[in-house]
Amino acid sequence: MKKIGILHCINANDVCAGVGCLKSFMNKKDFFKKYEAEFIELGAFFTCNGCKEYREVEPEEDEGIIEKLDRLVEENISIVHVGVCRKLKDGSECPRITTMTLMLEDRGIEVIRGTHKES
Ligand code: SF4
Repeated sequence: MKKIGILHCINANDVCAGVGCLKSFMNKKDFFKKYEAEFIELGAFFTCNGCKEYREVEPEEDEGIIEKLDRLVEENISIVHVGVCRKLKDGSECPRITTMTLMLEDRGIEVIRGTHKES
């Protein structure tokens, strides 16, 4: 059994109900197809803590982020998928998301970029 988490951009909450990510997870489609033959559990659905203009502290020093990521470790979540909302308008990855992925990898958690189909 694999425990999986999904990370997404908190700004996406303005327009996103998480339906695409959850549908792909439940149906083992798109970036979750690789688990077709496995039992998987969604153990966490979590966000960054916001852009710099709203939250000054960087993720490495953000006690809330650290607490969330440590909780994933306690819960034996071994893989985190990152939603398409990781991308900024120019298509590059949000630097705060990149930092969080590095913090996840430092904790021994695998990071996969993608949940549902990306155009
Ligand atoms: S820091 Fe990045 S992931 Fe977080 S709200 Fe801002 S744009 Fe979204």
